[in-house]
Amino acid sequence: MTRPAPAIVVLGNGSLATARKIQQLFPDALIHGLTERVEGADRVYHEFGATLRELYQQDTPIIALCAAGIVIRTLAPLLLEKGAEPPVLAVAEDGSAVVPLLGGLGGVNVLAREIAAALEVAAAITTSGELRFGTCLLNPPSGFALGDLELGKRFVSDLLAGETVRIEGSAPWLAQAQLPEDPSARLAVHVGHAERTPAANELLIYPRNVAVAVSAGVVDMQQSIRDALHREKIAVQSVALLLAAEREMANPALREAALELGVPLRFASGADAVGELARNAIAEPVSIFGDETIAFAVAEQPLDPLSIGRPRGRLAVIGLGPGAAELMVPAVKAELARANDVLGYETYVRMAGPFRADQVLHCTDNREEMQRARHAFELAAQGRSVVVVSSGDPGVFAMAAAVLEALHESSDAAWHNVDLDILPGVSASLATAAQAGAPLGHDFCVMSLSDNLKPWSIIEKRLDLAAQADLALAFYNPISRSRPWQLGRALEIVAQHRLPETPVVLGRDIGRPGQTLRVTTLGQLTPDQVDMRTMVLVGSSTTCVFPRVDGGVWVYTPRWYDNKP
Ligand code: SAH
Repeated sequence: MTRPAPAIVVLGNGSLATARKIQQLFPDALIHGLTERVEGADRVYHEFGATLRELYQQDTPIIALCAAGIVIRTLAPLLLEKGAEPPVLAVAEDGSAVVPLLGGLGGVNVLAREIAAALEVAAAITTSGELRFGTCLLNPPSGFALGDLELGKRFVSDLLAGETVRIEGSAPWLAQAQLPEDPSARLAVHVGHAERTPAANELLIYPRNVAVAVSAGVVDMQQSIRDALHREKIAVQSVALLLAAEREMANPALREAALELGVPLRFASGADAVGELARNAIAEPVSIFGDETIAFAVAEQPLDPLSIGRPRGRLAVIGLGPGAAELMVPAVKAELARANDVLGYETYVRMAGPFRADQVLHCTDNREEMQRARHAFELAAQGRSVVVVSSGDPGVFAMAAAVLEALHESSDAAWHNVDLDILPGVSASLATAAQAGAPLGHDFCVMSLSDNLKPWSIIEKRLDLAAQADLALAFYNPISRSRPWQLGRALEIVAQHRLPETPVVLGRDIGRPGQTLRVTTLGQLTPDQVDMRTMVLVGSSTTCVFPRVDGGVWVYTPRWYDNKP
């Protein structure tokens, strides 16, 4: 897995100039600025601690423009947990100091040197091995994997104690390191893909130069692959990718096996025998062995999995929530970060940004939903990672149903093979209700008042029955220029079953700039108080209102229901 671009976190306008200089080094990095203190950041955050911890847990490299102590104290509670350890650096506001703090094995010193060079200062490198040899032996470049970290640490401390070292195998990057090389040394760095029990005096580094081609029919795939690797004396750490036939793309055993091996899963077509499949898919010369269910292709140099075959395409239909970034679920943020293509109504696509230069945005009119859904499948079927954006929740009067309808209507196997996921969001009714208190705290009914996709007679019938059933009501799409009279009629129907004092909540642009929340009553509500950006919540017979200490009111519907009408 490649790491996301670093996050540059700033607390005040004073550090923006330094932040921008650093951003020039990493064009995909976003500047995160504290709300109301920083102008012109790419992302705003409200709470420094929560933001830093979230970035850390998502394995995002962090460049914090503040005191090292603040960063240490903030991340300290997370450090005992095993898991992600992205590079973390503190940089002085004025750019005069660059301090790598965490992520020694994730390349923090490399980052620190790059940033320090751009700021024309020296990085505060404190890692002895790094200082002595100019590189971290335990963090080989991509395409190579370290055998064992604990043994590696011993090895480096022996070297630091003054021992010399031999290099066996091809390790081009070590040529630049200032290692005390000696052909007769006791210590050896051994680079190779053969399975090997490390000797006490050896640092094993595996080139990732092996492709495993597998047929989806293999029983107990993970174990079978490991057994076959062992038979062929190939180290599991040297596996660069798992390769399978395109027609087997949706097979979950393949996905699990790749996940367990920790390698990308790629697909190729044009051959039935797995050995041939690998030979056709890999451009460089490889030697191939194995049988008709599991074959190995071994190259001289590390393989670049991304240049071999293609991945299974992915389509995620995501909900942004009402608008505010902190109400977006983390899975949705991660999905946006991995997307190649983003499709949706322009307003929502813009709300989902900012995006990197390599991400393709496809903005369309709000009404072209089926066309958008089909376009999303076309892109995903090519192996791309595609996101379709909805506001709120994608399953509530939004794109998820349109995407499933498009798939249901299609007989294209490539569409059905796409890895499809629906990721939820906070729907407008829930976001509005939360701000007002708990007006939907008991049974409630959610309706769209739009008669674009359903006959008005159905809407009237449902309104009548839901009002009769004394459900609290949440109206989406309450009114628009092309549907001017419908809301008035809907309120007439509700009023036949509810008292004029029934509380009504109007939430407009909730979670977005300029949001408003109004509490009124059914008797006072008129359609001109409502527009298409408004959520209308109508209480049931038990919904009540009481003053808040700050001058507003709380609205809630009790959880119980006794003998009230
Ligand atoms: N999928 C969305 C709803 C889309 S229908 C969701 O789950 O929220 C669009 C309607 O939702 C609008 O007409 C409005 O009634 C309501 N809506 C969407 N976002 C809103 C917001 N931020 N504030 C208030 N109402 C909103």
